[in-house]
This record gives sequence, C-alpha cells and structure tokens, in this order.
Amino acid sequence: MAIASVNPATGETLKTFEANGPGEVESRLAAAHATFRVYRTTSFPERSRCLRRAAALLEEDREDIARTMTSEMGKPLVAARAEAAKCVKAMRWYAEHAEELLADEHPSDGDVRDSGASGVTVRYRPLGVVLAVMPWNFPLWQVVRFAAPALMAGNTGLLKHASNVPQTALYLGDLFHRAGFPDGCFQTLLVGAGAIEGVLRDPRVAAATLTGSEPAGRSVASIAGDEVKKTVLELGGSDPYVVMPSADVDRAARIAVTARVQNNGQSCIAAKRFIVHEDVHDAFTERFTARMEALAVGDPMDESTDVGPLATERGRADLEELVDDAVRRGARALCGAGRPEDRPAGWYYLPTVLTEVTPKMRIHHEEAFGPVATVYRVADLDEAVAVANDSPFGLSSNIWTRDAGDMERFVRDMEAGGIFFNGMTASHPAMPFGGVKRSGYGRELSGHGIREFCNITTVWTA
Ligand code: NDP
Repeated sequence: MAIASVNPATGETLKTFEANGPGEVESRLAAAHATFRVYRTTSFPERSRCLRRAAALLEEDREDIARTMTSEMGKPLVAARAEAAKCVKAMRWYAEHAEELLADEHPSDGDVRDSGASGVTVRYRPLGVVLAVMPWNFPLWQVVRFAAPALMAGNTGLLKHASNVPQTALYLGDLFHRAGFPDGCFQTLLVGAGAIEGVLRDPRVAAATLTGSEPAGRSVASIAGDEVKKTVLELGGSDPYVVMPSADVDRAARIAVTARVQNNGQSCIAAKRFIVHEDVHDAFTERFTARMEALAVGDPMDESTDVGPLATERGRADLEELVDDAVRRGARALCGAGRPEDRPAGWYYLPTVLTEVTPKMRIHHEEAFGPVATVYRVADLDEAVAVANDSPFGLSSNIWTRDAGDMERFVRDMEAGGIFFNGMTASHPAMPFGGVKRSGYGRELSGHGIREFCNITTVWTA
C-alpha cells in the first residue's frame, strides 16, 4: 500500500510520501533504544511535565489536526475535534495518575514471611522500546491511548501508523518532540506493513501493541510469539446491542443510531448487531430505521454532516460485498444497501438496516466496518444472550434493560470485555478497554493498560 493521504470524500490524492529506507529505520531503532536507557531513569514529575505540554500543544493545534484527520480518512470534522479533545483529556489523566498507578506494592508481611524475606516490594519498571502498529479509524486517539501510558511508565515508542494517515502520523512524532520528550522517546516510522517483521524481530524492540484487523493482529502476534515478546492486541468487534422489554425503547432507538454510525460506522466498539426482544422489536426497528434513513450523508468538512465517506475504496468494497451477500441469501434491507446517488465521487455508502439475517450470511459472523446494522428478533432472555454471544468477537456489549435479574444474567454470561447498560460503549482513560475471543487480548487505558508494558519486578530482601 502506498504511503499517501487520499481524500475519501473525493478520491483525490493529496500528498504522497517516500517510505523510510533501511538506514532511516535503523537510526530510529538505535535512537529509541539508546534513549530508553536514559529515559527509564527519569522521574514521574519529569515525564508528567512533558505529557502535560503535549496536551497543551494538542489543544492549540486542535482545529488544524482535526482538519488533517478529516481530509485523510473522512471522519466528520465535528468528530475529529472531539477526538483531539479526548486525547488531551487522556494525556492529562495519565500525567496526573501514572505515579499512583505504578506505585510500589508491598505484599503483607504475613503472606511473605515463609519465603524467608524481611521485606518484599513489587516494582513496576518499564519494559523498553514498544512498537505500536496502529489503524486509521481514530488516527490520533488509538496512538495516544498507547503513547500516554507507555511514556509515563518510562518506555519509548516507535509508531508504525496506517499507510493512509501519514500526515497524522508525522504530526504525532512532532508533537511529542515539541513537548520536550527526549529525542528518540517517541518516533514515527514511515513504512509499509512489510517492514514490521524486521523491526519486531530486532532485539532492541521489547514488545508490540496492535490495533487493527484480525489478519494484521495474527501476523504481529505470531512473529512476537516466535521472538517471545509481549503483545497487546485490540482487533475487531461486532458488538451486540440488546433491547429488552423493560427498556426505554425510544431512547434505545435514538442512541442506537449514534452507536452504529459514529465515525462513519468504522469503530471497533460500534454496536453492529441489534438484538431486540419480540415485545419491543417492531417499535424499536421502526424508530431506529426512520432515524438511520434521516441521517445527513455528505461532505465530512460540513458541520451538518452525520455520516461521511468510508476511509478507503477497499473498505467500501468489503462492506458492499457483505451486504450483497446477505441480501442474496435472503436478508431484507429496510433502508440503504447502496451508494448515495448524489455522491458519485468519494467512497460513500448509505446507512443501512438489514433484518432476517441468518448464520448462513457472512455478515452474521464478520465485522461490518461501515454504517450497516443488522436487527435480530428474539423471544426471551436466553435467546438474547445466545444470539449476543454467537460471534467470533467479544469486544464490548450494550444492553438495554431496567430489570435487575436481566442485568445480573448479562454480567454473568456476556462473552465480552465490556458491558454497558442503558447507554453505548465509549472508552474513558480510567476504564480498562479490550476484548476476548477474536477481539484480542490485553487491556488498554486505566491502571491495567499502563501495567501491560511494565516489567513487574519482585524485590526480595532477606
Ligand atoms: P489493517 O489491520 O490492515 O491495518 C491496521 C494496521 O496494521 C496498519 O498500520 C497496517 O499497515 C497494519 N498491517 C496491515 N497488515 C499487516 C500485517 N500483515 N502485519 C502487520 N501489520 C499489518 O486494517 P485495514 O485498514 O485493512 O482494515 C481492515 C479491517 O480491519 C476493517 O474492515 C476492520 O474490520 C478492521 N479494523 C479494525 C480496527 C479497530 O479499531 N479494531 C481499526 C481498523 C481496521 P498498512 O496501513 O501499511 O497496511
């Protein structure tokens, strides 16, 4: 894949970039490793000062970087501004809390006395150079939610960003540099996916984190496994959105639209499968479909746009194939299922609602990365849980019910890393984020996220 910014709203190539050659990759690797040896000894207040400066700079740059993101990957400008603001918040959160999250632990004397110790301390020390392979869908946020905790923990980072967001990738390298982090602390590698193996196998790289598709995750995890290096994987999702009879159906239908079409439908934690109890199925589906149909599809730079184009031509083709396969096998499209006629240029796709979806259809098992919802009718709680779990993915889940018994059952049985009641999934710096099954492993954000790339060291003294 060429390293280039191509405007998804027009198909126009805005800027192309020369990939870093082997010499440049080597010098960045050497810098990341050499810097780690010194940076690991810095104090939390020193790291915090730099991260707070990065937050302040990003706040100043918000409008410019939001426009860059929108022009490179097509998210509505309003959402791009919100993404930048969310990154500022996460940076400040880790700048404030990292020290307490990584404070030494002292197992109680009674527990460790029979080991012969007079004292035991558990210390969170940094791991080293971490390679971050990142996607284009939240081109700032996905990187910051790795970088803020990793840098606060004393690691250094090498970013291999998606090839279609090079301007955002270069901005991020520059941001951490301007913020005062030592040279080599956080660098962007402008390389294609083919260069990852060499970097990951390099002994100077300690670990990797990847957010993206399952094939990319599998490849990085198998190379890292071969090298016995730690990985965190945040892959796809096909999150269920369950509506039970006690729910506020109108509110559930309204939030369902945002949950599905946020970021033009290209979010791993977007709700994708709408599983509705038969008592409220028709009322929910009617309201949900009417709202999906009424969305404004158009230029993402226009502030009144709800849904912009898909980020890549390939992404739209994949989505079209999924919908066409479902319709061919008997699914019914209540709205959408095609391209908007008034947008011949760019990679637009209409918000779509499909019903009568069955396990014979690819969309039942695969992730629909665009504004396409599937609606299922279920007869009772058991069937709702079974359909919700009938997916290879297990990222998050959204459950609408006011019944305490229902809630307990979902908390016990949902195969997912998150359960959100009466609302939609959203990440927050203080809450762990990640999945089970094919959605990956490990956690980002919160104390769990910052400890992923730490050497959890037992210090035993006789
Ligand atoms: P990819 O997984 O291909 O891209 C994500 C990152 O992985 C990019 O930096 C990419 O580099 C890199 N990459 C691609 N192939 C490999 C590989 N074999 N080994 C190592 N790294 C690799 O996502 P796509 O853009 O192709 O999107 C395809 C699908 O992935 C989507 O439809 C969606 O289902 C899922 N996805 C999920 C995301 C999430 O947030 N969980 C985000 C994005 C996609 P390069 O750009 O150079 O190819």
